[in-house]
Amino acid sequence: MHQNLNASLHGIRGSFLDFIADPFYQVEQDCVRYLPDGLLILEDGYIKALGAYQELAAQYDKIPITAYPNRLILPGFVDTHIHYPQTEMIAAYGEQLLEWLNQYTFPTEAKFKDPSYARRIADCFLDELLKNGTTTALVFAAVFPESVDAFFEAADRRNLRMIAGKVMMDRNAPDYITDTAESSYEETKELIRKWHHKGRLLYAVTPRFAITSTEKQLKLAGQLLQEFPDVYLHTHLSENTKEVAFVAELFPQNQGYLDVYDQAGLVGERSVFAHGVQLTDAEFRRLSEAKAAIACCPTSNLFLGSGLFKFHQAKSPEHPVKVGLGTDIGAGTSFSLLQTANEAYKVAQLQGQSLSAFKSLYLATLGGAEALCLEDKIGNFEVGKEADLIVLDLQATPLMQLRNPHLPAQSLGQLAEAAFALTMMGDDRAIQATYIMGRLAYDRDGHRPV
Ligand SMILES: [Zn+2]
Repeated sequence: MHQNLNASLHGIRGSFLDFIADPFYQVEQDCVRYLPDGLLILEDGYIKALGAYQELAAQYDKIPITAYPNRLILPGFVDTHIHYPQTEMIAAYGEQLLEWLNQYTFPTEAKFKDPSYARRIADCFLDELLKNGTTTALVFAAVFPESVDAFFEAADRRNLRMIAGKVMMDRNAPDYITDTAESSYEETKELIRKWHHKGRLLYAVTPRFAITSTEKQLKLAGQLLQEFPDVYLHTHLSENTKEVAFVAELFPQNQGYLDVYDQAGLVGERSVFAHGVQLTDAEFRRLSEAKAAIACCPTSNLFLGSGLFKFHQAKSPEHPVKVGLGTDIGAGTSFSLLQTANEAYKVAQLQGQSLSAFKSLYLATLGGAEALCLEDKIGNFEVGKEADLIVLDLQATPLMQLRNPHLPAQSLGQLAEAAFALTMMGDDRAIQATYIMGRLAYDRDGHRPV
């Protein structure tokens, strides 16, 4: 049958930018794929072809094509660390990590015992992600299994590729929000059976951090990873100096913070550790060796005064560590990965380094997908991948229009400059549209494009 007669095909025309390799390790121009006037062909939610419009158009002249003139189309953003129950407590004043948890976080998360409340916030949260161009996230739920059900039900209805898990925490927190080592093991096991690989959903075993888990609970988390080898491990690591000191007190027999997780069997290729601001050289080397990932969360690290993430060390050629960007809502201050890239740039600048727009957009797309071991499914426009993509408006405000008057960029140099201004000035206003599996899931102007 001739392709053009296949009704499930459709096309999107615009400028396309994606990454085919890691610009931290190769010359940037070899990692960037840019088509100023491109055509993306979608079939049943998957990418079928991408090429210059002039080259592909004749072959697909009978299929419907949605055109986005002067818009830049990227793969959907990947947020590698975020807490959905903290949506409503974003921007809580005045504390650093441990006090902030006690004063704001635990009371807020306690509300998620109520399934109808959890469902309402899960919906708000996912709407906010799509509005900000985030199509995949690694998500903390609360300690209650109901909070996981509510999140996955809402994500499944939207056909999103999401990873989440029930928080495991059996000490150093109020009774109303703790489980026990045994109950966390049993409940997690049941949730994995219920949700892991249901549609596009995946499960992450989620101890909050070493402070709120006994050694026994961490060991049981490790046992779950043995029993279900393709689930993820998601936790926090070395965010704040007081936290690191408290971990040393709680686990005097261990060789540091990462070693606490290592001894429990929690450090592997599918492990994602949020923050890593205070990591030692030996810990960076161990993460590299284990092929584990760090979710770097600059807006959160600045907000809580935790410190500056060492991009140059994490992405060193000698001991490369997989890194993704995380918003870490609600300690993070924006759902936007553009704003997260903005703060990441400043974090690097304060250490005498520059983080180019191509590097930060790589971290927000393919780099995030690699951190989550999902690079075979999402992260760029390779044929066969799931068609989650976003349409960006580089002239979303009058000031952005003044800054980016000439679109589309005609060279990689022009694109680098326009993309950098986008990461400094852009936020949810710059997201014109978000597509999930080839279908329009969010449109800024509230209508279907023509
Ligand atoms: Zn967090």
